[in-house]
Amino acid sequence: MTSLWKSVWQLRCQNKVKNFIWRACKDIIPTKTKLKDRKILVEVECDICGDVETTRHMFWGCKLTVAVWQMANLKAPGLTANLPNFLNLFWCVKEAKPSQDLETFASLAWSLWNNRNAIQYGEASRTTLQIFETSRDFLNEFQSFCEVPHPPQPHGPSLWRPPPFGWYKANIDEAVFKELGHCEIRVVVRNDKGQLMGALSKLLPYPLGALEIEAKAAKIGTTFAWELGLREIILEGDSQTVMAFIANHDSGPIQSSAWARRRAARVGRNL
Ligand SMILES: [Zn+2]
Repeated sequence: MTSLWKSVWQLRCQNKVKNFIWRACKDIIPTKTKLKDRKILVEVECDICGDVETTRHMFWGCKLTVAVWQMANLKAPGLTANLPNFLNLFWCVKEAKPSQDLETFASLAWSLWNNRNAIQYGEASRTTLQIFETSRDFLNEFQSFCEVPHPPQPHGPSLWRPPPFGWYKANIDEAVFKELGHCEIRVVVRNDKGQLMGALSKLLPYPLGALEIEAKAAKIGTTFAWELGLREIILEGDSQTVMAFIANHDSGPIQSSAWARRRAARVGRNL
């Protein structure tokens, strides 16, 4: 299972695509069926074909999805099999022989979900060709950008910066799903070379305020990095208040380091 999550985070796709694939693999995409189970929605019909909108339908049952996979020439055996969930679908595409383009699959899956959401907001569905071409162009553009030598070099305040030599950086990120009444905390820990040390996604069964969830994420992120056996940790999150609090309420090895938009608290051995 570890290699599967590694595959998700190593996709050469935009972060929003990776985050989406992560959530889909964890089966927390808010399809109409899921929203009905939580008594939030009554109707469960797919806006494109009228069938019941489940995760399975969205990504390998709907006629639009099938047409998109065909146009992209994705031929993973799992795409036609009776798969129980998205995680199995992702695994089938990843392990398919001959090998399939996992990034194309991920990017298209995100585009399909994005198209579905646009319809929810009253927009017309895009055609198979539009979804395919838009997704392909975004992916190509992103990948060509990534092929610039030394991509981790910081050129702007919002880009990830490597920690100093011998240190590790834990980036924390949160999302609140009000309609589902829960929130998600994500943690990604990398070393000074940008290599992934570990990643965590944790669902909390209640919605929190912005400050509360950042504080909770800071605690979870720090604990996770600690449990990985790492000690020189830089914690990076969005809340200046929380990061400053952590930096200012300890002594000795703790220092604070502020980015223009993000704030980081450096946590030392006596955490
Ligand atoms: Zn459908």
